[in-house]
Amino acid sequence: MTIQSIIKKSIKRLELEGKLLTPDFYAEAFCKESKKVGMAVEDCNHVDKYSKTLNKEFQKELTNYRIRTMSELVRFLISKLNRTNSTVCSEALEAQTIFTKRVLQVIEVLHNKEATLLAKKSISLLDSRASASQIEQFRQLWVNFITTYDDTFLQKLKIFGSVDSSDLKSTVENLTIGAKLSEVGSFDLSRVAAFLVSSLVPSIASSVNDKLALLSEKIKNNPSLLDTTGVEDEIKSAISLRISLDKQSVKEMVKSLDVVLDKLSLRLIDMIEQSDNSTMEIQSIKSELESYSDEASSNFKVAHKKLFTIATALEENTQLLSKDLTTHSSEVHILSQRVHELERELEDVRQESKEDFLTKLYNKRALDEFMGIKEAEFERYGRNFSVVMFDLDHFKAVNDNFGHDAGDAVLSAFAKILKKETRSVDVIGRFGGEEFMALLSETDTKGGAIFAEKVRKHVQKARFMYKGKRIEVTVSCGVSERKKHVSLKGVINSADEYLYKAKKDGRNQVAYKI
Ligand code: GH3
Ligand code: MG
Ligand code: MG
Repeated sequence: MTIQSIIKKSIKRLELEGKLLTPDFYAEAFCKESKKVGMAVEDCNHVDKYSKTLNKEFQKELTNYRIRTMSELVRFLISKLNRTNSTVCSEALEAQTIFTKRVLQVIEVLHNKEATLLAKKSISLLDSRASASQIEQFRQLWVNFITTYDDTFLQKLKIFGSVDSSDLKSTVENLTIGAKLSEVGSFDLSRVAAFLVSSLVPSIASSVNDKLALLSEKIKNNPSLLDTTGVEDEIKSAISLRISLDKQSVKEMVKSLDVVLDKLSLRLIDMIEQSDNSTMEIQSIKSELESYSDEASSNFKVAHKKLFTIATALEENTQLLSKDLTTHSSEVHILSQRVHELERELEDVRQESKEDFLTKLYNKRALDEFMGIKEAEFERYGRNFSVVMFDLDHFKAVNDNFGHDAGDAVLSAFAKILKKETRSVDVIGRFGGEEFMALLSETDTKGGAIFAEKVRKHVQKARFMYKGKRIEVTVSCGVSERKKHVSLKGVINSADEYLYKAKKDGRNQVAYKI
């Protein structure tokens, strides 16, 4: 490839690109064409050659400005030289600094705490001839601020109207915030007034003081009064008045409750002392009182009323009880008197009775009387008489083996035998236990012994039956006559001694001495 052909191609390129044939365009086209064919043209590398001698920043700028030709390089350098003129440079810098300061001052007043602070600090930084790194540091702070800035808080104002985050002023001006706030304010005041009025009413004291009523009325009618300072003292004194009314009321109620409780406890003590049965009643009263305790603490009046009812009921109950007791005690008194009388009567009857309750023979008392009579007849008329003593043999065994009832039945049966064998003039009686006595008028020992023997035999033969069982019964007898003794006592002792002998000699026999 010759120079001429490269020149031709260069001119053609310019034509195709529609460029004028200026030295710069021509040189550019020539260099491109020669490069295409691999020809190294020194002139084409001038720019590179020079640019490599410049510092890195300049080299970067040359690339940014696309400096490719020498003339461009020369123009660039000239302009650079112009700019680095010291006066021009410091003037521009100062103007920029002042401008930056103004902007910062504006930011400072733009109602943002962080921005204001940062702006203030930035201004003082600029005033203090800051180093490049300090400025860089602040630049970063501003970058941080703008990247993290969040204006969604403005949306909170939406309830008061439309929000334009780009125009804070008109947004705020257009808000209906004032009306709404005043509305809320007056509503609150009337509610507060209602609360206040109701809180001035005493909770325990039954009546409202005139002063309280008047103030309540005033606040109720005009809640806005609460906003005034004058009413504050009035409310304060009303509250302390209310408290003192309640306190007074509580004092009175406690006092009257004390009276009721005193009464109640007295009644309870009375009831406890008077009757055991009242325990149940007292317990039920106690549990009733317990169930009232909750109510009592919340409502003195109810508790007071209920306690009074209980006290009254207790009083009535106690009265009834004591009345009952009095009636009963007089009844008991009458009855015990009657028992005494009956006892006396019984004693009299017993005294008078001469009959043995079991055998229907004469009893010991009667026998004593008859012995007295016989003794008198013997002493006065010399009328002899015999004493026969009977004692059933082993009678204890009868009781033990067949029971006491069987023993009684045997005693009754023996009495019948005795009666049967006795003459009507003779006296027979039960001397005690299973011992019997016969007083035989005008009879000596012999006659007495015959009689005793008859009885003994009869008993031996008799079939004593009890509940289908036969009971073997025998009797021992002792006989003696009056004439042979000096006294009544002597003859009786003698009969007793012979009886003892009969026993000793083997029982079921009659012992005597003629
Ligand atoms: P002995 O042959 O020595 O007389 O013996 P005994 O068991 O008959 O004599 P003892 O004096 O030891 O007992 C008499 C018993 O008679 C004892 C007593 O319980 C009984 N007796 C006395 N009176 C009655 C009565 O009215 N009814 C009955 N069932 N038993 C009586
Ligand atoms: Mg006996
Ligand atoms: Mg006996």
